[in-house]
Amino acid sequence: MKLRLILLCLCSLSAYMYLAAQITDPKATEVWEPEPRAVTAGIGTAAPSDAIVLFDGTNLDNWMKLDSATAKWQVTNGAMTVVKGTGDIQTKRNFGSVQLHLEWRTPAIVESEGQGRGNSGVFLQGIYEVQVLDSYQNRTYSNGQAASIYKQHIPLVNACRPPGEWQTYDIIFMEPEFNVDGIKVRSGSLTVIQNGVLVQNNIEIKGTTPYIGLPKNPAHGKGPLKLQDHGNAVSYRNIWVREL
Ligand code: MG
Repeated sequence: MKLRLILLCLCSLSAYMYLAAQITDPKATEVWEPEPRAVTAGIGTAAPSDAIVLFDGTNLDNWMKLDSATAKWQVTNGAMTVVKGTGDIQTKRNFGSVQLHLEWRTPAIVESEGQGRGNSGVFLQGIYEVQVLDSYQNRTYSNGQAASIYKQHIPLVNACRPPGEWQTYDIIFMEPEFNVDGIKVRSGSLTVIQNGVLVQNNIEIKGTTPYIGLPKNPAHGKGPLKLQDHGNAVSYRNIWVREL
């Protein structure tokens, strides 16, 4: 049995080597179809031509409260800012897998520490949180600091800028897949780049990201992008997504 397997492997290898030796023309390995469509890149962090702009600094038209009521966060100077107690806001539109760009800023005046300092959050499909927190010289549990996948994955490094400065998140989110019986058949994944620094490298999403308890895996389809009101005046600007 073992010998047959070895012979089979040797035959396959020699067949491959024979075929590979037949390719002498470089054009034989060129692939021309399909051709990627052209996308005009934005200047700096501006949205590329095929992006959906979710916040351009002027209004909250693309956003609402979780109960569909009008979003009450404040829009000033090209940014939206959490108004404590008005609640989380989410996009009116639902998304599957996306490339997401957004910029965030925690308050310049530091009034608290740990999880109480510049806390907010970016929730993919409304349930998977990439933490937003002022983690500049502000120790908290590692799987709850800025750029953590909340209570699941510690960021590779702490790339936080000081409070009051704008910071960027570029996120690649691949949604989980569920079969018709509601069983998860493929985990979702997240890659996060903060201020140009890789902080989450294609990590597996274990499920929802609750404050208390373990991740859960309820079956779901597309979902909104949600931003958290955690009681701190965190600001956001320049939010766009590309559907993948
Ligand atoms: Mg949070």
